[in-house]
Order: sequence, then C-alpha cells, then structure tokens
Amino acid sequence: MIDLAAHPVAPPPPGLDLTPERVAHYNRPGPRYTSYPPIPFWSEKIGEEDYREALGRARAAPDEAVALYVHLPFCAERCAYCGCNATVTNRASVVDDYLDRVEAEIGAVVETLGRGRRALELHLGGGTPNFLTQGQMERLLGCLEGAFSLGPEVDRSLEIDPRIATPAQVRAFRTLGFTRISLGVQDMDPRVQEAIGRIQPESLTREIFQAAREAGFPSVNLDLVYGLPYQTPEVFQRTLDAVVELRPDRLSCFSYAHLPHLRPNQKQVDARGLPASAWEKFSLFRQAVEQFTSAGWSWIGMDHFALESDSLARALRERRLHRNFMGYVEQAAPHLVAFGCSAIGEVGGMQVQSNPKLGAWQRTLDAGRLPVIRGHHLTPEDLRRREAIHHLLSNLELPLSLLDAVPGAGGSDLPALDRARKALEAHAEHGLLRRHDNRFEVTELGRWFVRNLCMELDAYLPVTLPAGSSGGPRFSMTV
Ligand code: SF4
Repeated sequence: MIDLAAHPVAPPPPGLDLTPERVAHYNRPGPRYTSYPPIPFWSEKIGEEDYREALGRARAAPDEAVALYVHLPFCAERCAYCGCNATVTNRASVVDDYLDRVEAEIGAVVETLGRGRRALELHLGGGTPNFLTQGQMERLLGCLEGAFSLGPEVDRSLEIDPRIATPAQVRAFRTLGFTRISLGVQDMDPRVQEAIGRIQPESLTREIFQAAREAGFPSVNLDLVYGLPYQTPEVFQRTLDAVVELRPDRLSCFSYAHLPHLRPNQKQVDARGLPASAWEKFSLFRQAVEQFTSAGWSWIGMDHFALESDSLARALRERRLHRNFMGYVEQAAPHLVAFGCSAIGEVGGMQVQSNPKLGAWQRTLDAGRLPVIRGHHLTPEDLRRREAIHHLLSNLELPLSLLDAVPGAGGSDLPALDRARKALEAHAEHGLLRRHDNRFEVTELGRWFVRNLCMELDAYLPVTLPAGSSGGPRFSMTV
C-alpha cells in the first residue's frame, strides 16, 4: 500500500485565481472514481469461483436490491474518436448470438443469486443499444424480467446513437418502459464531426430529441465531448447554445483523450486541430460549465449537469448523491449485477469485470462458465476510503467522521486516515477546501480540482496508472 505521507502536497502558485499555472499544477494523472480502487488495481487472480462465492454471499441477504447493467457492444460503424468497447457489424444474427450468451449469463448468475431479486434500476450501455431490433430488445427485457423483479417503478435507461435511431424506435423504447434516454452528440459542428469521424447533422439530433420528448420520456439526456479537433471557443459556443435551447434534463461533458498508440481507430482523427495546451482545453470545459450553470443546470460531480428541477440536482442540494459504475445516482443499490462482454459489476463485496474480448467471452459462456477476467475483494479500508471519495466527489463536502478510526472493523480496528486528513488540511490552506468543525467543504476554486482532492484519499496512488486506463494519461477533471 502506498504511503501518502511520502508524497507531500507541493504548494500551488500564489493567489486563488484560475490561471494557466494553476491548471498546469493540478493537471495530474488520476482516476474518474466510478470504482474504487480503479480497475488497473484489480487482480486477474479473481475469477469465476470468487464471483460465484460473492453471488452466494448476496443470496444470503435476499432483501438487498440490485442495479442491473447490460453491455451491448455493437455499432453500425466505428467512430474515429471512440474509446469504448465496441464491435462493428451489419449482421443482426451476430446480435442474436450475443443475446443467446447474455441469456446464458443471466441464467447462471440467477442460479446462484436467486431468482426474482428486486431491481432499483436498469441501464443499457454500449456500443449502441439501439442497434438492437425491437424484437431483440423485447427478448432481452423479457429475459431480465424473468430473472429479476423489474416493476414499473424501476428507472430504465439506455444510450442511443441518433444516427441509427428513428422517431418510431424512440416511441417503442418508451412503450417498453424506458424512462431515461441519452443521445450521443459530442459536438454539433460539421468540421469537428468530420475530424472525429462521426457525421451527425444537427437537424437529426433535434428530430430524435424531439421524438423522445413527444414520446413522454421523463428524462432526456445529451452527451457532449470537449477537447476535440477544431473545437474553438466560437465553434463550441454554437453547440452549447443549441444544447441550452433543447434543454435536456441531464448532460455529460467528457474530456477527449487522444491516445492513438492505444486506440488505433484514433489514428483516423484529424489531430491537427486539437487544443494546443492544457489551458486551451480547460477553457473549453470552463465555457461549458459557465454556460450550463448560468442557464439553469447544476454542476454534478466532475463532468455532469442536471436541471435544477431534476432529482439529481435535488440530491446534490440535500447532500445525498452517490456514485457508482453507471454514474451519479440518488439511491445506491447494495449490488450492481452486470452482464455482457467487458461489463463491470459489484456483488457481495467484490468488484468484477467480464472478459472484454467478445470471442473469449462467448467461448467461456459456451463452456458453461462465467466469463470473469479480473476483480477485487473490497476490504473495510477500501469501503471507508471509497465512501469518503464518493461523498467528496458527489456532495462536495467530506464529513470528518469518515476520516476517523472505525472500532472493530473487519475484526481489528480500522486506522484513522490521518495522512489523508493532513493532505486535505494543506489543500484547505491553498484555498481548495474550507475547514468547518465537522467537515471539509469544497470551495469554488476547489470545485475545478475535486478529482485532485479525491486522490488524497486514494491508498492505491500515486503508483503510475497504466497509460490509457480510466480515460487517458491525463486524468485531471479539467484537461
Ligand atoms: S462512439 Fe459510440 S457509436 Fe461510435 S463507435 Fe464508439 S460506441 Fe459506437
């Protein structure tokens, strides 16, 4: 385990302004903290047997609800900028074959976990979930509904690619009980779209967005990316204006990580127009934050936004936001059961990932085994640090009680996180935190560098993360 005291906090540039020097100072590699510890620190010694044991532990607590995730990796074409686990195909039969295995995986998990477990939410991610035909989607939902208790109150969400969506398909998703739909947009400017290999006319985005509104989706979301080629402040402003006019309930605005040596498809990106400096890239993000927060959205976590009337924004005001593999949530289920190749879940105190290689994932299931490729047993210390990291990241405060010792945790006392506390005290002196009697509060300046604050609570850093893991060699929220 890494000793944080061995890595004292270097003083930042004087003053409290957002300057190029300050952004450069905090621009350090770091995780996005969808999981803790981050996936690069999980062990490949964890496999199927461990997962079955974890499912068995969860079976012993049948009242505990689950969140469900299904990864659907298929896309009609590969976008040049994409960093996702995606498989390009034009054959519907490939999806049928995949669903055969997802059904087998669901069956094998439920055999150990128990049938009919209450679900709080279901999310379909990709790839492109709307690559499935209506019949394939009905088949998948039918299988999930047969295995879990998925009542009408369950929050059902999916990501879609507007380029292959139709208004009729969007209406059908609503009829199938989906309540939340996220449209991939990235940027609306044609030159930016050409540079990243994803042509998506603004009129098409508007048509599908409008169809989702008319279909009665309670929540319609958009995904943007900043730091793309030729995305100058003027160009980005046009996208931001269009998004404000559409008024999605939630937004994400992710940083583009250009890593062609790790993601060969990115060699197709026209890199000549990429931001020339960390400050230029940061300024694009700042532009988005200022635009959205002044137009009625709350800034959630690192790079999400929710309309002030949205339940996520209410949860932030009431300091009860949580974070999990799927993003920010109001109510965290004790278990996240995930299906599909590369899917990430957490059950019975263990985090697991399925094999990301489609062929290997299929062959393992065909052999009657669960395709777990790596995982991590969460220790009492992991759980405490994760709670502190997620509370700080989601609710922008840290109760000091989360840094205290825990008597009797795991059979012996869990020590206080004194070194993390000292590091956070130093950040308070440098203006990123405000110290109250019983908590730290993130300041307006610290808001931009909340990931750096979370990193002080991380016992697995500052080991150098493998380049490209969790989103690229520069992990700072700002650039
Ligand atoms: S960006 Fe989305 S649609 Fe494009 S290849 Fe990646 S997963 Fe598929």
